[in-house]
Amino acid sequence: MTKVRALVLERQHELRLRDIDLPLDVGPGMVKIAIHTVGVCGSDVHYYTHGRIGPFVVNDPMVLGHEAAGTVVEVGEGVTHLKPGDRVCMEPGIPDINSRASRLGLYNVDPAVTFWATPPIHGVLTSEVVHPANFTFKLPDNVSFAEGAMVEPFAVGLQAAQKARIVPGDTAVVIGAGPIGIMIALAALAGGCARVIIADLFAEKLEIAARYPGILPVNIREKNLSQEVARLTEDWGADVIFEASGSPKAWETLLQLPRPGGCVVVVGLPVDPTLMDWSLASTKELRIETVFRYAHQYPRAIQMFASGKVDLKPLISETFAFEDSVKAFDRAVEGRPTDVKLQIRLGENA
Ligand SMILES: [Zn+2]
Repeated sequence: MTKVRALVLERQHELRLRDIDLPLDVGPGMVKIAIHTVGVCGSDVHYYTHGRIGPFVVNDPMVLGHEAAGTVVEVGEGVTHLKPGDRVCMEPGIPDINSRASRLGLYNVDPAVTFWATPPIHGVLTSEVVHPANFTFKLPDNVSFAEGAMVEPFAVGLQAAQKARIVPGDTAVVIGAGPIGIMIALAALAGGCARVIIADLFAEKLEIAARYPGILPVNIREKNLSQEVARLTEDWGADVIFEASGSPKAWETLLQLPRPGGCVVVVGLPVDPTLMDWSLASTKELRIETVFRYAHQYPRAIQMFASGKVDLKPLISETFAFEDSVKAFDRAVEGRPTDVKLQIRLGENA
């Protein structure tokens, strides 16, 4: 164990920047990374404000943070694709790579998967972390640490776009213009959608999303989404619907939005079980897909940033110093509609 400074969630509502003992021995196949930038995620904030997410309960002090980029400082035995000095980002989920799910390529749904900042596993808002080299990805020179820390949420968008099986020219609808909703909209456009209709209650969020060409905002405080989708698609419906709000209200009219034979991708999770109109789903012969985090998306996300196909830099609303981590979280708790992504910077330079 090594004593390091970290942002520790002591218990619900209590965050502290303090020293904590973390295992930092570099075993075979592992790398040690000096953390540079960490994004603040809705799940980190939820553990802070609620102390739990579903079955995952904060019973012991836990380091927060899972959207991270940094620099390799040490490599373990057998690691050949990384060396000290490499700039990298990391997948926060570690499966048992020999499990049945992993062997099927579905390592994200391996029952044994552990995930940073999901109790009881520590996150990475700390100076250094040891991680499997196979889940550590080199960043090209033209991808910054800040963008590297955006790979994690963007991977969720890519997973959703891939599940949708987008065909070039598709029209998509994204319900919810939070960070993940915007990531999905951008992944869907990059995946070939001609246009993405994005719906939310907050004009500020819609305004940020609509700065990207191809994204059409619909404020559902003012307009009826079903009518808008019907109008924009000449009563045919959209090819793909992404539910990214988690609101039970969205489910009341969700199945009116897809065209016959269309697809619904469920990303947002309602807290309670939700009623679903199966006869309408069946009449339209809809395909329903679900998303749990992501698998195999990091290299794709990195290539899209490097090629300039996707630019997430405008979504980084503010960057806080590590010493101001608690301030960053309290700002996230405020939930300002103009904030998309807040980041915390531990390293020097960009
Ligand atoms: Zn996240």
